[in-house]
Amino acid sequence: MGRLDGKVALISGGARGQGAAEARRFVAEGAKVVIGDVLDAEGESVAAALGDDGAFVKLDVTSEEAWQETVASTVDAFGGLHILVNNAGVLGGFTPLVRTSLDEFMRAINVNLVGTFLGMRTAVQAMRGSGGGSIVNISSTAGMWGVPFGAGYTASKFGVRGITKTAALEFGRYSIRVNSVHPGGVATEMTAAVGDDGNSDYYRAIPAGRIGTVDDITNLVLFLASDESAYCTGTEFVIDGGMQAGDVRLLPPPK
Ligand code: NAD
Repeated sequence: MGRLDGKVALISGGARGQGAAEARRFVAEGAKVVIGDVLDAEGESVAAALGDDGAFVKLDVTSEEAWQETVASTVDAFGGLHILVNNAGVLGGFTPLVRTSLDEFMRAINVNLVGTFLGMRTAVQAMRGSGGGSIVNISSTAGMWGVPFGAGYTASKFGVRGITKTAALEFGRYSIRVNSVHPGGVATEMTAAVGDDGNSDYYRAIPAGRIGTVDDITNLVLFLASDESAYCTGTEFVIDGGMQAGDVRLLPPPK
């Protein structure tokens, strides 16, 4: 028996990286999955590999209309909606704050925070109609502490953490749980884009001794999406290999 048998999931930003890994795993655990993304070719290819249990819909998470169409076609295709993973995200520039343009700052806010708001607001009616479910909002450790060169990213990911709690308070009465996930570094195109392949001293120094993988994050998202996390809502789940536990530079050298 699969851990998501009978569930229908919608994953934004599912055309690659963490979202694509979650889509594959959710289907392996018995779910039907719609992936929504701005990347057509990559999205179609991930969905094709999911067979009859998967579908791709073009979704720009900053568009209210696109969200309405995506949720409607998810319900049309698979008969309901139980799980929403607000995973789509962008760095929105990786520059010092004083050199960050308003456009770069707002791009992070619009995709990461406004996209999550619109996703929750649009999906909640369909989820209520399906008897409830689980919303997983992908934030970051940048939603827990500051990240240099990431003013818009940090602001947006703190916002995702906050709005998650508001939604959890409001949606509990509909049997919808809402939690945020806060990955540290994960080896995807996003980290590659800032020139870190995970082999840096930074990742070697954290307690886990390595950068995270998409499978690490998928394991947690799967737990939160499934009924196994029935008593978890309104909280944040940090998954960072121990990065946040403190400053390893204070450790004496090993004997
Ligand atoms: P990624 O860049 O591979 O994936 C992001 C996906 O979001 C892409 O498929 C992209 O096309 C999609 N996307 C971007 N803008 C969109 C839009 N307007 N509408 C719809 N889709 C859009 O990176 P990833 O690491 O898989 O990122 C997934 C999530 O994890 C993001 O929210 C990211 O902020 C978060 N995160 C990543 C890391 C990391 O180190 N990689 C760490 C913490 C949090």
